[in-house]
Amino acid sequence: MSTLHHLPSEGQIAKQIRQIFFPLGIHCPKCRRRYDYKIQGRYFCKKCRLKFSKKRCTPFAHSKLSEKQLWFLLSAWLAQLSPQDTRGITGLSYPTIHRWFVRFSKLLPDFSPVLGGTVEVDEAFIGKKKYDNQTVVLGAIARDSGQITVRAVLSREQGDSGRLILDHVRPASLICTDANPNYDHLPEFFGYGHEVCNHGMGPLWTDQPG
Ligand SMILES: [Zn+2]
Repeated sequence: MSTLHHLPSEGQIAKQIRQIFFPLGIHCPKCRRRYDYKIQGRYFCKKCRLKFSKKRCTPFAHSKLSEKQLWFLLSAWLAQLSPQDTRGITGLSYPTIHRWFVRFSKLLPDFSPVLGGTVEVDEAFIGKKKYDNQTVVLGAIARDSGQITVRAVLSREQGDSGRLILDHVRPASLICTDANPNYDHLPEFFGYGHEVCNHGMGPLWTDQPG
């Protein structure tokens, strides 16, 4: 189970927040030019005569959540915690966590393709668990386009597979997986169609009978 143990330090989080939200420095939210100077912890744009906080330039700007909840939410996202673990830490509902995770996933630069239509998802294991060096690699392939995306994850747990799907598969696509119960939450939590395929019966590309 993923835990708070995996969370980066406060300094690392601050660094990641800067990298994610302000890769080119802080800019005026109105005119988008670089701020001119800082007054009492707030930034000032001379052109717009606008004073603004750093929070206003992030997706947290109009959130009613507490700073602590937002901090943990982003930390959980960065540490790739599952929705279940994130709920345990933040006390937020699944729909709220889902909404924020989708926002974060849109903000993060990602060069992997987003797949749609019927998408096969499966995992591969590299290394040996008994030597504690096993890496789980989740892969997804779109049946129609043949586009592929892969990601190494912390574990085979529900949240890790869900994250790959959420990030790389369009909403309302049909996901085909093996009978692993970790995928059972897909329709309920993410709103995807879900079909259980028996990969042992043949190649991934074969349409299921009936
Ligand atoms: Zn401005």
